[in-house]
Amino acid sequence: MGTLPGTIGLIQAGEVIKLILEKGEPLIGRLLFCNLLTARFQELAVQKDPGCPVCGKNPTIQSLADYEYNSRENSK
Ligand SMILES: [Zn+2]
Repeated sequence: MGTLPGTIGLIQAGEVIKLILEKGEPLIGRLLFCNLLTARFQELAVQKDPGCPVCGKNPTIQSLADYEYNSRENSK
């Protein structure tokens, strides 16, 4: 359905605004399913992965990757 990306985009924008304003109940630890054909939303609890390389108990990724940007190659 063509309206699905717009619907999900609005929900994602709302999540960002809630996080910035520190208001409401963000979708942290929850996965939201949306079925526009049935007009139903479902929620699934998601547990944190203790082995995650970013937010796990022993994180191995602790900073953003530093990519070199070459404007000449990207303008071709
Ligand atoms: Zn993680």
